[in-house]
Amino acid sequence: MTYIRDLLAAGRTFSFEFFPPKTDEAARELEKTLRELEPLHPSFVSVTYGAGGSTRDRTRDIVVHIERETTMTAMAHLTCIAHTREQLSQIISEYHQAGIRNLLALAGDPPAGVDDYPHDLRYAYELVELIREHDDFSIGVAAHPELHPRSPDRESDRRHLAEKLALADFAITQFFFEPDPYLRMIDELDALGCSKPVIPGVIPVTNAKQVERFAQLAGAEFPRHLAARFEAVADDPAAVRAIGVEIATDLCQRLLEEGVPGVHFYTLNRSRATREIYANLGLVAGSAEQP
Ligand SMILES: Cc1cc2nc3c(=O)[nH]c(=O)nc-3n(C[C@H](O)[C@H](O)[C@H](O)COP(=O)(O)OP(=O)(O)OC[C@H]3O[C@@H](n4cnc5c(N)ncnc54)[C@H](O)[C@@H]3O)c2cc1C
Repeated sequence: MTYIRDLLAAGRTFSFEFFPPKTDEAARELEKTLRELEPLHPSFVSVTYGAGGSTRDRTRDIVVHIERETTMTAMAHLTCIAHTREQLSQIISEYHQAGIRNLLALAGDPPAGVDDYPHDLRYAYELVELIREHDDFSIGVAAHPELHPRSPDRESDRRHLAEKLALADFAITQFFFEPDPYLRMIDELDALGCSKPVIPGVIPVTNAKQVERFAQLAGAEFPRHLAARFEAVADDPAAVRAIGVEIATDLCQRLLEEGVPGVHFYTLNRSRATREIYANLGLVAGSAEQP
């Protein structure tokens, strides 16, 4: 059994995130992506969980498939809003029985326009506590360098994050485009006595409009000077991709120089941009060694 907390204790991690596909064609595409990324020997990969459990079975099936049928270690995302405590306990037990030992514990988002949903657990830290009651898992949580959109202020955002991290093993961040918000968050956590590893999340932009929309939803700033670079080549998808890979490579390089504990790539179920960034960074397939 591989625990992500042990991987982080041993050195820097490189990881990839996927989402459950909705169609057969998308499932074939994901399988192809998995096979193309497997030779990079990521430390672990993760699979997202649809809001309110909408991908409950698909997330589990893909996580178990990766863990059993590839050489990669898989982590399942799990959200607690709109689930009963009993439902969550059952999902956690199923993962344990299937040999999964790594979970990303998240609050998720309240279903839009619906009041009538289970309120057993409201915050991610409560899900971390529930998982700890169960079995032995390595548990990650989410961090938002540019503050969570529901946080009323910076102080409470950081305090709740530090409290959540004290219960968990590590965090992975929402994506961001400049190192400063991440580095400031690490300093703020440090000042609160929290030194658990916080892995930065990096998204290679291959479609500027799409990522700008994601950023708006996630409360991340898509800097004007980057948006202008994409706008200048908006009609040329190859040029957009090339700029996206260059910007992500540059961000990774700066973060690695700062000594980050790992890098988590939001792949959007495609392999090419991540493979190109790996090559640019000189990461050696077959080891997690970094330049
Ligand atoms: C790496 C990563 C992966 C993600 N994967 C998924 C996914 O697979 N599926 C999905 O649906 N969403 C996912 N999300 C999005 C996430 O579910 C949303 O951002 C959600 O709105 C909050 O989740 P959280 O775990 O950060 O919540 P929490 O840590 O619970 O925080 C949410 C808000 O509550 C506040 N808060 C926390 N504790 C308290 C307290 N005790 N009292 C008062 N306020 C408190 C926080 O400050 C924050 O403002 C992911 C996010 C990240 C960064």
